Amino acid sequence: MKTALVTGGSRGIGKAIVYAFANAGYNVLLNYNRSEQSAKDIVKDLEGCDGVVEMFKADVTNRDEVDAMVEYAVKEFGGIDVIVNNAGISQVGLFTDLEEDEWKRVLDVNLTGVFNVTQSALKQGMLSKKDGAIINVSSIWGITGSSCEVAYSASKAGVIGLTKGLAKELAPSNITVNTVAPGTIATDMIFKEYDENDIELIKKDIPMGRLGEAEEVAKLVLFLASDNARYITGQVISPNGGMVI
Ligand code: NAP
Repeated sequence: MKTALVTGGSRGIGKAIVYAFANAGYNVLLNYNRSEQSAKDIVKDLEGCDGVVEMFKADVTNRDEVDAMVEYAVKEFGGIDVIVNNAGISQVGLFTDLEEDEWKRVLDVNLTGVFNVTQSALKQGMLSKKDGAIINVSSIWGITGSSCEVAYSASKAGVIGLTKGLAKELAPSNITVNTVAPGTIATDMIFKEYDENDIELIKKDIPMGRLGEAEEVAKLVLFLASDNARYITGQVISPNGGMVI
């Protein structure tokens, strides 16, 4: 049975990814940071599904916590086959109002977090397995850039660069590395920043006329981890309802 480590699995897109992998028969280590109750509820709800789901608290910016999480996955499940680097935060505001610590926090969580988790897992057995898949969650704003989300755009563009470089480095080891770059998906991240009127305006920019669902992103991530996607690496795939083509 394969094992997937999903960062930010306690809410939103990450939660949908945990469900998708658990129901597809993977063992899943659900990483969370603040949302302990939500993580517990998911683990309980998934009791009895095909795979074993466990949870582990770690801030992806903290290398010691990340190393401990990966060590736990290796001990409990015998190794990691799939990493889904999904944990992320947003930051909205004018670039000229952006404080240095906000800039650093966004880059730390969204980009250094991917570095920490990926390097830790590779060094703790994934590389020597010579088989695996890494899926990084970026954003359409990492492709096109977004006004008033400069730090976020920079962090998500960084994830795409990391993906492409690492895909070339790991291809000889039979480990694929891809990026999923969603458009606007109905999660807390959107609802905490935008009210109903804003959402209606956002929908007007989406040819499909609606926000995406977290489950729609999860299905793509599951596919990229599957045997059907073994020749796909270094790619950026954007489920966005036609918003960016
Ligand atoms: P969300 O609902 O706000 O959930 C964010 C998740 O990230 C939570 O599970 C949170 O865990 C976790 N997280 C945040 N900081 C963390 C840290 N330092 N260490 C570990 N986990 C951390 O957001 P979402 O919409 O599902 O977004 C998931 C990913 O998709 C993000 O990378 C986001 O940038 C990307 N994305 C989202 C959209 C969208 O429209 N929603 C579009 C494109 C890309 P806790 O609550 O446990 O702290």
